[in-house]
Amino acid sequence: MHIDIHSGLLDVARQVPSPNCDARPAGTSIDLLVIHNISLPPGCFGGDAIDCFFTNTLDVDADPFYSEISELRVSAHLLIQRDGAIVQYVPFTQRAWHAGVSCFAGRECCNDFSIGIELEGTDELPYEAIQYQVLRQLIDLLVQVYPGIRQDRIVGHSDIAPGRKTDPGPAFDWSKIRT
Ligand SMILES: [Zn+2]
Repeated sequence: MHIDIHSGLLDVARQVPSPNCDARPAGTSIDLLVIHNISLPPGCFGGDAIDCFFTNTLDVDADPFYSEISELRVSAHLLIQRDGAIVQYVPFTQRAWHAGVSCFAGRECCNDFSIGIELEGTDELPYEAIQYQVLRQLIDLLVQVYPGIRQDRIVGHSDIAPGRKTDPGPAFDWSKIRT
């Protein structure tokens, strides 16, 4: 696995460019990693609905839930699917719109300075072993490229948006990524 520091692209990822991103504020260094979960429809795995959601092409007739979310303009840098395959929607150099209203250690707007990784899953269902393996490899790589992402700066969405967000949920076993 390799990250091209200029393009911000991960070589092993399937690239699905999302328009839901913009430039990071000038001079911002990347020093936070945010773990999320997503599945569409909730609890269903596979298919291309997440790709469609992050590229604003979700078919609202395909599921009742989609009409609730189809107007949202969101993304993440990466998705780790149930089988461990990685999708990249936004280059790390760009600001992905994953955290929303958020605060880490007194600093708001976490999208500015973070990388967002989605695990395909739910708060309650155990994640796959391969997802943890891939996430660990990714963390090792990201820490090399962005040394500001220290172990105590790897958090869940629920940590930076408490009361509003619950992912990655109780199903996420933090001991599997903390060394
Ligand atoms: Zn989230």
